Amino acid sequence: MTRMQPGLRINLPGTREEDCFGWTYESVSDVKTELAAQEYLQALLRQRRFDIDRLLQVPDGIEDQRWLYEHMRQICIEMGLYVAQIHKECTEQTCPSMQANGQPFYCAAHGRPRTCSAVGYAVHTLDYTMRHLSSALPDGGTGDAAQKHFQSMMRRLYRIFAHAYFHHREFFERQEAASGLFARFVRLGRKHALLPESQLIIPDLPTTA
Ligand SMILES: [Zn+2]
Ligand SMILES: [Zn+2]
Repeated sequence: MTRMQPGLRINLPGTREEDCFGWTYESVSDVKTELAAQEYLQALLRQRRFDIDRLLQVPDGIEDQRWLYEHMRQICIEMGLYVAQIHKECTEQTCPSMQANGQPFYCAAHGRPRTCSAVGYAVHTLDYTMRHLSSALPDGGTGDAAQKHFQSMMRRLYRIFAHAYFHHREFFERQEAASGLFARFVRLGRKHALLPESQLIIPDLPTTA
């Protein structure tokens, strides 16, 4: 027996785990909170995590750029968990400098870009990106300056996946099968012209093309 009640969006005590967050939203305006877009995206992800077309489809009543921003923020949250997991096998000892497939990458999260361990790069870059996403974006997040800003965030975040792919392949594949995070990331980047094809060093997966 489910204890979910129609229209009531809380998990009542005693709700079975698989019934938690079982409600659906009809549209964004249906979500009566200040974090409407974020909640809407998270509800969609709980239900249709692998339906990337649907996830990227901009909901009625939301600006394109706003939806991009919500996806970026959500991706960062999920990448935080990703990095915590990879840290079990990717350490300062195993991967003392950030690289992917022989290509070294400087960590730009410092006053002056420098070499960091792979996991250091991941943590610093995510932290840096989250801070920038939480502060005001150039042009209110819409113009050319914002586009450049998003491009550089995506490029740096992409390298974290690239390191995982080339140096921790089993981890990469396991994570991707469970979350579809990388596919969502690439498809989002392509949709908004934020990831130049020349920089995509991970071969396309069936889910990213
Ligand atoms: Zn590593
Ligand atoms: Zn660093």
